[in-house]
Amino acid sequence: MDRIIKAVCFGGKARVALLDTTEAVNKAIKTHDLSPLAAAALGRSLTVGAYIMHNLKNKTDRFNLIVDGGGPIGRICVAGEDGAIKGFVDEPRVDLPLKADGKLDVGGAVGRNGDMVIVKDLGLKEPYIGRSALVSGEIAEDYANYLYMSEGIANSVALGVLDDANGCKASGGIIVEALPDADENILVMLEDVMSNFTAISSMMTEKTIEEIGNFYFGHLNTEFFPAEPIEYGCKCASKIRGIVRSLGRAEAESIIAEQGVIEITCDFCAAKYRFGAEDLDTIFGKNGENR
Ligand SMILES: [Zn+2]
Repeated sequence: MDRIIKAVCFGGKARVALLDTTEAVNKAIKTHDLSPLAAAALGRSLTVGAYIMHNLKNKTDRFNLIVDGGGPIGRICVAGEDGAIKGFVDEPRVDLPLKADGKLDVGGAVGRNGDMVIVKDLGLKEPYIGRSALVSGEIAEDYANYLYMSEGIANSVALGVLDDANGCKASGGIIVEALPDADENILVMLEDVMSNFTAISSMMTEKTIEEIGNFYFGHLNTEFFPAEPIEYGCKCASKIRGIVRSLGRAEAESIIAEQGVIEITCDFCAAKYRFGAEDLDTIFGKNGENR
């Protein structure tokens, strides 16, 4: 089961999160027919998304994460709302030669001429928008840089997606953030622990994230909190009528007059919706009260 385990170390001077997003990445592979390279790029981003989502305070809070580095994959978009994360990439079949070390060239696919943008809708008047330049396009470094540049947090991020013939064998990550009381010693110790996670997804094929957490962080005066499930999915069906309504009845009627139907495809889950003239009364109300 996909899940996140949060903990505080050094008596509250740093926090750590361990995430398993294997099922989410397999669902994304099926939904979008992702190439292994696209699965690695989107999978790493989904792990970041799961982390952002599980740090939002309220159930109604939402976020969008957009990575746009000018590379052949196009944009990577991840969103979280209604308790679930979801994502897509512009070019799901992107493919590049492996790097010299035999790893998928995620940085080459994403590019580094652009930004990582995170928009959080916390139910306030204006959404919170954070933005940082991409460092490598490998996602982990880029999110680490985002946290540091945009939120001023010393941190370390390890992310990984391991593919096999059937899809994704393991996907997840470990994210540590120093809290304001953390001194130089703590930062050095955390840096040292994090150096073990250069191949976190391979490690996850042998150990659960609970075992990894205990083994590598257990001795650092750490308190672990109960795992929280990570859900992947799209609930657009409940919102689609609202989207048509936002066109306004006159515009909706003119689209149907021209094209016969209003057709909307959800980028996140590939669901297709079609509305004809006969649907307009239900959507806008018979007496035109939503006109
Ligand atoms: Zn959808």
